[in-house]
Amino acid sequence: MGNPAPLTPMLAQYLDLKRQYADAILFYRMGDFYEMFFDDAKLAAPVLEVQLTSRDKNADNPIAMCGVPHHSAMGYIQKLLNAGHKVALCEQLENPASAKGIVKRDVVRVLTPSLIGDPDLAREDQSYYLLSLSHKDGRYGICVFDLLDGTLRSGSASSWESVAEVIREYQPKELLADASTAEPESIAEWNSLVVTRRPNYFTDEGTPEERAHAALRLYLNETQKQEVASSLAKGLPLFGSENLALDSVTLASLEIVRPATEGGKSLAQVMDHTVTPMGRRLIREWLSHPLRSREAIETRLERVTTLLAQPNTCEALRSLLSPMRDLERLSTKTSLGLAQPRDLGAIREVLARLPDLKELLSTLPSPEWKQSSEELDSLDALQDHLQKALQDELPHSFREAGIFRSEFHPEIAEYRSLSHDAKSTIAAMETREKERTGIASLKIKYNRVFGYTIEITQSQLSRVPADYIRKQTLSTGERYITEELKRFEEKVISSEHRLKTLEESLFLETRARVSQSAPSLSANARLIAEIDVLQSFASVARKQGFCRPEFVEDGRLDIQDGRHPVVETLLAVGTYVPNSISMSDDEARTLIVTGPNMGGKSTIMRQVALICSLAQTGSFVPASRAELPLLDAIFTRIGSSDDLARGRSTFMVEMNEVARILENATERSLILIDEIGRGTSTYDGLALAWSLLEYLHGEIGAKTLFATHFHEITSLEASLPGVKNVNVLVDKWDDEVVFLYRLAVGVCNRSYGIEVAKLAGLPPKVLSRARDIQGLLETHSQRAQRSRSAALIDPAKQMGFFDDAESMERPVPLGT
Ligand code: ATP
Repeated sequence: MGNPAPLTPMLAQYLDLKRQYADAILFYRMGDFYEMFFDDAKLAAPVLEVQLTSRDKNADNPIAMCGVPHHSAMGYIQKLLNAGHKVALCEQLENPASAKGIVKRDVVRVLTPSLIGDPDLAREDQSYYLLSLSHKDGRYGICVFDLLDGTLRSGSASSWESVAEVIREYQPKELLADASTAEPESIAEWNSLVVTRRPNYFTDEGTPEERAHAALRLYLNETQKQEVASSLAKGLPLFGSENLALDSVTLASLEIVRPATEGGKSLAQVMDHTVTPMGRRLIREWLSHPLRSREAIETRLERVTTLLAQPNTCEALRSLLSPMRDLERLSTKTSLGLAQPRDLGAIREVLARLPDLKELLSTLPSPEWKQSSEELDSLDALQDHLQKALQDELPHSFREAGIFRSEFHPEIAEYRSLSHDAKSTIAAMETREKERTGIASLKIKYNRVFGYTIEITQSQLSRVPADYIRKQTLSTGERYITEELKRFEEKVISSEHRLKTLEESLFLETRARVSQSAPSLSANARLIAEIDVLQSFASVARKQGFCRPEFVEDGRLDIQDGRHPVVETLLAVGTYVPNSISMSDDEARTLIVTGPNMGGKSTIMRQVALICSLAQTGSFVPASRAELPLLDAIFTRIGSSDDLARGRSTFMVEMNEVARILENATERSLILIDEIGRGTSTYDGLALAWSLLEYLHGEIGAKTLFATHFHEITSLEASLPGVKNVNVLVDKWDDEVVFLYRLAVGVCNRSYGIEVAKLAGLPPKVLSRARDIQGLLETHSQRAQRSRSAALIDPAKQMGFFDDAESMERPVPLGT
């Protein structure tokens, strides 16, 4: 039987730290390793795929432990963060060799799924947002913070649905909340989100937004162990009234940033011809947050126009930008004290290119570009300093030597020449000793364990002089040292040590100096990102033949030869059929789109929305001409999708989306309704679709594209001024349906479901039986439809609305 593990001073220290960081896995530094103990070890070992061992194996309760080497710890830590854990990094604060008693240790940083340790380990296709949420008197305060680029967005909302919408849009990795807000747990379930509760960070003072902000600040201090307030200064509004609103449903259904299916293509993928990581991020931000201010949009369009007219400059711009590393993240890394020599080297390379970039932009014939040129701050003094200080090739870590140029500091030169001269000193010593002893095969060698030694082979041992001191016996001879060799070695080693210490402290100074310029570096990063996105817009416009949109004030929406920017790239060149569409407040505010399945209804509707949205992003658009109104929002209700995870059926999802549209849309919005009311009985569905269309048209007055297979609805054109029927054309050729993908005015008065089913390969027997049934149904329904439509338009005729359906003959069953 073993004894219970005694509480050693080290264990007491460990437990004390663990108590303070109870919701994190404690990485306890011991020499070259970070060790984890107890439940932390049991939790981490399988995630990290490292061996779980135990300390005090003979005790009754051996302590579970596992560990990872400190030099490769970040990769391991990231694995734990990806799995939704937090890590408290505990370091040795004094040199164990000189420590009296237990080595002083403390937690220097806490890493969480949203506050990751090494920006280089961030996945490019993911964001790492931390959302702070406060709830008070029925209102919510929300802050969304990104440590990687230091941006903070905040705002307040009056309903939980708005908060959920923010969460759907930003997909934060972590949520900071007080104790009373219950909903986060339910979100955590559907959004694999880590919820951190810090009730004492949310004080009673201030508005919900201020409380969320204050709590965020405290949490950042807790985890980063330093003031990150300078990053927090860059605040942006969360609900930008200057943005065209695209809610999460619309972003998803228009596939703006992410394709709907794996292997699909998003708008961002098509539009992204950026060449820098900051550009790649910004283009996604811009595409999902188009503008509403005409002036701001025209400024972007003007700059794209100039670049488009100067293809050579545009090309030169791309080659100047493309080697630039991620200045935004490098700058944050420097401010947080995480930058390594190569990061400062990368900042130097970006800065070195800025004078050429400024020069190039100033040659562009546009005041907007001249302004960007002036705003770029090439930080000459800093660039000059980095250029003079840092070597061309830099080591990975600042604990390695070889960071600074010899000319940068006199002592560096001195120490370096000492170790450099070592070679020639040794060679001279070797020659001298050969002559003195007469041993021609004598060699002075260096090895890591024994340092410098003189090696003598077996046959020559008798000639070894008396002042040689034996150090090691080999199978082939002996190794010796001399007093002179020992002195020399000490000198070399101590100069290497001094060099390392000096380079380390110079590096920390240089890093602090760079971090003082962090605001200018971030501002440059933002400008570079903008330039990159605008050149990307120009490149796509050139390649895909886009035109500059014009904004009109009279409520018209006129698109000539429009194309779907993504679908056209998926089809063979020249096969996409362009379509023109015209809407106006008075005559065509609502378009009812009919046509066969697969006829291209959804494509043309999305095409209109994407053109409007691209235009308000400041990009050219796929059309030969586009005159557009300035929209405040685009809403979509497209297709059907179950949301089983949240316990909502297809029909419920559909109705929830419609409710949101009705609540938020205005007469300046564009609404796409593609199939509504299909998930319930025909009459329920038709009634809802009909009433919805009347409401959108009459009460809200938004521009609406309404695709439907309920033909009854097309009769509304006759009774509601401003409602117009359009249809996608189709032809029949040898009994086969041919899609023309052309939009025409009028109703498609025949459906082609059975033909499309034939194209899909249904068996002939099913198809011919379906045709028989169709014949029967049509005969009965024509009469019924006439009376239904009449009844809906004229209440006096509401008698008989269902008559025909009730008395309808059933189709004769098969085989009778
Ligand atoms: P359903 O009613 O079954 O949903 P739909 O009428 O909405 O069908 P879409 O999904 O828009 O049809 O289009 C079907 C396919 O037709 C698209 O995937 C695309 O490949 C092709 N298509 C659509 N529009 C065009 C066009 N203008 N030019 C060429 N091909 C097109």
